[in-house]
Amino acid sequence: MRILEFMDKFSDEQSCKEYFRYVRMKEGVICKKCGCKNHYWLKAKWQFQCSRCCFRTTLRSGTVMENSRLPFRTWFLVMLFMTSTKEGMSASELQRQLGHKRYMTIWSIMHRLRGVMGKRDDLYQLTDMVEFDEGYFEKQVPEQTREKLKRGRGSQRQINVAVMAESTPLENIESGKLSSHCKFFKMKVLESHKASEVESLIKGSLDPNTVVLSDKSTSYFKFEDYVEAHITTKSNKKTTVEILKWVHIAISNAKRNFLGIHHRINGEYMQSYLDEFVYKLNRRHFKSIFERLVVASVYPYWQTTE
Ligand SMILES: [Zn+2]
Repeated sequence: MRILEFMDKFSDEQSCKEYFRYVRMKEGVICKKCGCKNHYWLKAKWQFQCSRCCFRTTLRSGTVMENSRLPFRTWFLVMLFMTSTKEGMSASELQRQLGHKRYMTIWSIMHRLRGVMGKRDDLYQLTDMVEFDEGYFEKQVPEQTREKLKRGRGSQRQINVAVMAESTPLENIESGKLSSHCKFFKMKVLESHKASEVESLIKGSLDPNTVVLSDKSTSYFKFEDYVEAHITTKSNKKTTVEILKWVHIAISNAKRNFLGIHHRINGEYMQSYLDEFVYKLNRRHFKSIFERLVVASVYPYWQTTE
């Protein structure tokens, strides 16, 4: 959504609340007490009432805004700024743009929004042909201890991230040249190189009918036990450019993006930044990611939605 369109559509607090209510009604309110999905709208109270047990739900309760006192319009503006460019924005820049007093408030709502972005993408599994590789992202470590830490693979300075990309091979009929078309991505922090961790990651991320493409360095995990087939190739320059093209493009774009905006990321929050990056990458062809994010934000950020 463009800024002028936003100003027009969400000119005041009331218009933002109305829109949030409309999206919530459309998505369906679930009663926290009895689980019933039918609700009335109590206009005088600005609350939903369960048609079975009469329990009342406020507009923010059970959503990303639960317990937040910030105006709806501030939330909407944060969503707009986070989604209006591919790169996104740092919390300090957003604080400056909004003229908000507290950095931590803006930082924390951005993290909640990254939470709902991650939950949204977790609802979908990748399928067909999927490229799989690992990326190593620099993390923030205190300067004094930095020099003492190990470098290279498994380095204490880096975070290991599993990157997956749906990639359909295409053949040019005239030239016979092969290329590939990419659809959806996933990026997940790997805490360890343990097979059990990769196993649950694969089960949650890939459809069992998937064909996985990877290079030999990921042979510590038996993909073929969980997916339709596993094709491995020797790791070299050609593999990077042809077979694992999209995962490598995604890794280098994510690294460039993080370096430009957040510099080095505290390891604890790496997944959160990856969630924002991947959410936007997966919706790169959408006309307005802002509206999709409002839909995702009527759900909580702390648990998986149905
Ligand atoms: Zn109820």
